[in-house]
This record gives sequence, structure tokens and C-alpha cells, in this order.
Amino acid sequence: MADAAKGTYRASRWSLNGMTALVTGGTRGIGHAIVEDLCGFGATVHTCSRNQAELDKCLTEWRSKGFLVSGSVCDVSSQPHREKFIQEVTSIFNGKLNIYVNNVGVNYRKPTIEYTAEVYSQIMAVNLDSAYHLCQLAYPLLKASGMGSIVFISSIAGVVSLGTGSVYAACKAATNQLTKYLACEWAKDNIRSNCVVPATTNTPLVEHNITDRLFLLMGIGE
Ligand code: NAP
Repeated sequence: MADAAKGTYRASRWSLNGMTALVTGGTRGIGHAIVEDLCGFGATVHTCSRNQAELDKCLTEWRSKGFLVSGSVCDVSSQPHREKFIQEVTSIFNGKLNIYVNNVGVNYRKPTIEYTAEVYSQIMAVNLDSAYHLCQLAYPLLKASGMGSIVFISSIAGVVSLGTGSVYAACKAATNQLTKYLACEWAKDNIRSNCVVPATTNTPLVEHNITDRLFLLMGIGE
């Protein structure tokens, strides 16, 4: 194939023109990079975070680059917020969603016996409850698109032990199994389900660890 023809083939193969995408937690870190990549491939993206000022700053920057992007303030750990959020997404995308990236995650690393019931519940609510219930709420939109794709951002902590942070690890292991269940259950609706399992990635979530050379040398991540 001639070089020019190969270029056209690649561009069309990877184009997301006309696709709609939802990315939770897009104002920082991995979610921010995902929003930029999806927009760069031509998708129309909606994102969220809890901080209006930071969200507005990101939206202004992205729109100055010509990206088709919008955003809502939403705390994904709250069911009323999730319901309102998906109502907004339904309206903005006319009821059709192609790509849902379940990105939000928090971690407070401690030895297991030091977690209070409150912190346990908080980590579960942000990392696992949000992923589960947002998938339920997004399901009709993904199905209506005729070609849906869910991508969970999991972690190596869900596969191997990192020493501390067992609540986060349990959430991520559950996310990995949820990925498989949804892949099987929703394949009939042409909805794919996959997860990415990153190790240490230099984002605000792990800045405190990144400064610790030992973590880097050991390849320990969140
Ligand atoms: P990050 O830098 O802390 O960014 C998190 C994003 O999510 C921010 O936009 C944050 O904005 C938003 N967010 C947090 N809590 C939220 C909530 N309750 N409701 C709505 N938005 C919320 O995190 P990251 O490092 O990019 O991590 C992203 C994902 O990758 C997580 O699932 C994490 O577990 C996973 N991961 C990260 C690493 C790593 O080394 N960084 C490794 C493996 C896996 P606000 O705080 O303003 O709401």
C-alpha cells in the first residue's frame, strides 16, 4: 500500500468522528489525558469532577484547541449526583453513548487494621459503587448507540499485593471481575467491556509516592 493510502487508512481506522464519550474525573491525571486523546481522535466528550473552577479551566483550554467537550460537576460517590449526571449526558448526547470510561478512583494507603468503617465505605463508594451504578445508568445509552464500549481504569493493586491499601485493592479486583461480567452479560447488546490495569502513573493521586525513590525502584503503583 502506498504511504499516502496507508496514512488515510490509519486515520479512518482510528477516527472517532461522530462518537460520543463519557469520562469520569477528567480534570486531572489519567482522566485528563483520556479526554484529550478521545477529543484528538474526533470524539465528542463529556466529563465531570467535583470542582467547578478546575472543570471550567479545563473546558476553556480544551475548547481553545477546538475539542468538542463539555462537563458537569458531579460527585460520583452520590447516587442522586449520578442520576442527575446521566440525565445531563442523555440530553447532551441525544440518548446515545458510544464510550464510557470509568476513571475516577481514590486511595488512602494504610495497613488493613487502621481503616475505619467510614474510610472503608468512602473508598468503596468512590471506586466501586460509582463504577457499578454509573454502568447501570449508562446502559440504556450505550445500548442505544448500537456500538457501546466500557473501559474501566483498574490497577495492578487489583491483581497483586502492594503491601498496603487493601480496600483500594479489593475495589480494583472487584472492578476486574465486573469488567468480565458486563462483557458477557451485555455482549448481546453490542456493548464491550474492558479494563486497563496501570502501574505507577505520575498523577496528583500518587505525587506523594512518586517523590519516594523507593516506590519508583520497586515499581509500586496505586
Ligand atoms: P487523580 O490524578 O487523583 O485524578 C482524579 C480525577 O477524578 C480528578 O479529576 C478528580 O477531580 C476526579 N474525582 C475524584 N474523586 C471524584 C468524585 N468522587 N467524583 C467525581 N470526580 C472525582 O487520579 P489518577 O491518578 O489520574 O487516577 C485515575 C484512575 O487511575 C483511578 O481509578 C486510579 O485508581 C487509577 N490508577 C492510577 C494509578 C496511578 O499511579 N496514578 C495507577 C493505577 C491505577 P476532583 O478531585 O476535583 O473531583
